Amino acid sequence: MFEKVLIANRGEIALRILRACREMGIQTVAVHSTADTDAMHVRLADETVCIGPPPAKQSYLNATAILSAATIAGADAIHPGYGFLAENADFAAMVEEHEFTFIGPSPEHIRLMGDKIAAKQAMQDAGLPVVPGSDGPVADIEAARAAARDIGYPVLIKASAGGGGRGMKVAKNDKALGEAFTLARAEAKAAFGSDLVYIEKFLATPRHIEVQVLADNHGAVVHLGERDCSLQRRHQKLVEEAPSPALNAEQRRDIGARVVEAVKKIGYRNVGTAEFLFDGGEFYFIEMNTRLQVEHPVTEMICGLDLVREMIRVAAGAPLGFGQSEIEFAGHAIECRINAENPETFQPSPGTIGAYHAPGGLGVRVDSGLFSGYTVPPHYDSMIAKLIVHGTNRNECLMRLKRALGEYVIDGLETSIPLHLRLINEAKFVNGDYDIHWLEALIAGGRRGND
Ligand code: ADP
Repeated sequence: MFEKVLIANRGEIALRILRACREMGIQTVAVHSTADTDAMHVRLADETVCIGPPPAKQSYLNATAILSAATIAGADAIHPGYGFLAENADFAAMVEEHEFTFIGPSPEHIRLMGDKIAAKQAMQDAGLPVVPGSDGPVADIEAARAAARDIGYPVLIKASAGGGGRGMKVAKNDKALGEAFTLARAEAKAAFGSDLVYIEKFLATPRHIEVQVLADNHGAVVHLGERDCSLQRRHQKLVEEAPSPALNAEQRRDIGARVVEAVKKIGYRNVGTAEFLFDGGEFYFIEMNTRLQVEHPVTEMICGLDLVREMIRVAAGAPLGFGQSEIEFAGHAIECRINAENPETFQPSPGTIGAYHAPGGLGVRVDSGLFSGYTVPPHYDSMIAKLIVHGTNRNECLMRLKRALGEYVIDGLETSIPLHLRLINEAKFVNGDYDIHWLEALIAGGRRGND
């Protein structure tokens, strides 16, 4: 087992990884920018190394600075968390070249899944159903129109190197496709450095359902059930739950088994998430995330496993040690992402926290580095906390969530808590009857809100 792990991240996920390490008796090294000197994970770490100024490019994205810190501190392994360098295949390869262990999948799998066209092809070859779409990239408007007519409008133009819900454009007809295609390519080039785009059927009412997998270095693979992440704004998740209210036991078993089969076929290791759109009773693979996900706690709550601990164990070469039939799923869990932003305009709201009181009690978990007097810096993602509740069933979970949200006090800045409180009173949410477009329409004041 590792003696010392360097945590190449910040915020709640750095703290989450630190906690797992501490429970395993592993020393921790926190790297941080000058904006995060007072952060909770820096305060709690065994060792700290300042790696640069606030802009992420010069600190959390600076691979050389992170590797130097690992060398100086004498770390054995690096956990990348999510975001920043977590899905950067070159970074994972550099970590290995410097003889540290990268706590995550192999650089080859990260590279494969980072190319969404290649990922779709690979998973289709491995037996998963995919969203109908163009055969690989579309090079020009004629090819785009030909593909769109084949698939049938409306279609979605997506960037092959895309991520974070950015760079997608819907087109309803030939004319709109022309404009959307040029725009999507330019945006993809600017945001991701590659203008490769592809086309998919735009599904009108799907749910986003993803399957968590865990694999060791010896070929054993299990799934840890699914998460429903259909509550999204601008293709970004806001609330996640497990299990999905939309699946029956047979659908759940079936998709879990198919994902395990596909992951085995491609020789994948460590954690990963296969993301699907689910529409009309059918699953369509859209992409695979090769890292720990923000929403991993809902899975932990229903299967009683510590995913970060499992990541560390398998990265150190340990066998999984349990089979699929030994994983027991219990109850229901929901996570609310709490962002420092205005709940109506979504403008970021960094600042200093005044009074702070986190909810607690049975079945309530708060993953956050917040404390009274802490200043949320303006340089990074606005997510400042995750509230996760667990109940024996979905109803109990909803009542508990309402209670916990009502207790949460974060003074000094605006947060998305009022939006969550509004959401939890919506009949469609309470009934689990929502798709990926519903929340957006609700926020926009659309009529689909509660009808
Ligand atoms: P990213 O990597 O940017 O997160 P994804 O491919 O995972 O992109 O898609 C993010 C979200 O965009 C999905 O959860 C879904 O809400 C929406 N989306 C993606 N593909 C489609 C599609 N073919 N039809 C409708 N919505 C889609």
